[in-house]
Amino acid sequence: MKTIGLIGGMSWESSAQYYRIVNQTARARLGGTHSARCLMTSVDFAPIAAMQAAGEWDVLGAAMADAARVLERGGADVIVLCTNTMHRVADAIADAVAIPLLHIADPTAVAVRAAGYARVGLIGTAFTMEQNFYRARLGEHGLTVLVPDAADRVVVHDVIYRELVKGDVRAASRDAYRGVIARLVAAGAEAIILGCTEIMLLIGPEDSAVPLFDTTELHALAAVEMALG
Ligand code: GLU
Repeated sequence: MKTIGLIGGMSWESSAQYYRIVNQTARARLGGTHSARCLMTSVDFAPIAAMQAAGEWDVLGAAMADAARVLERGGADVIVLCTNTMHRVADAIADAVAIPLLHIADPTAVAVRAAGYARVGLIGTAFTMEQNFYRARLGEHGLTVLVPDAADRVVVHDVIYRELVKGDVRAASRDAYRGVIARLVAAGAEAIILGCTEIMLLIGPEDSAVPLFDTTELHALAAVEMALG
């Protein structure tokens, strides 16, 4: 098995899920007491979040490139960036190392297409929902992407940064997300992409009338398949 290099800490609440899923998947695939060969470098999220809010993407790109180099030097064979939002600087990471970056939108879009859907609702941070880097990548796979309206985007974004990145999971926020998802379905979404790696802490299949595609799980599963391939 190759070594998976995880860039974590954004937030560590979801990085912990990645660590669990890659290990559970390696055991399921290989049997016995097998687990995943992996390395994680984990950042302090507070300055990262502040720079996101300030739009300092060049500085963030340099920080992510440094993290990727640490993993490459440590022996990683593939880079897995454990956040959707920071794929805003995917090119800076890919340019910094010789090993591949497994882009989170790719296994997600492949799974959506394989299930037969073409029109998806996307929920995540404002950066992920509103900027082009993420929707364009999904579009390259032939998906049409719907995002919530402006008021709903604020709700989705604020719950992520005020609650989920701190492991704070609230019933009232789950209800709010259910409403957002229902409105995306009413607008024509055939499936919903959980395009933030903490949303799976809050939302499950019972909260949606259409299938959910969880980027955390799909990305971690794809990492193991790549490491075994
Ligand atoms: N983990 C989140 C994501 O998948 C949000 C935190 C961040 O901004 O990195 O986008």
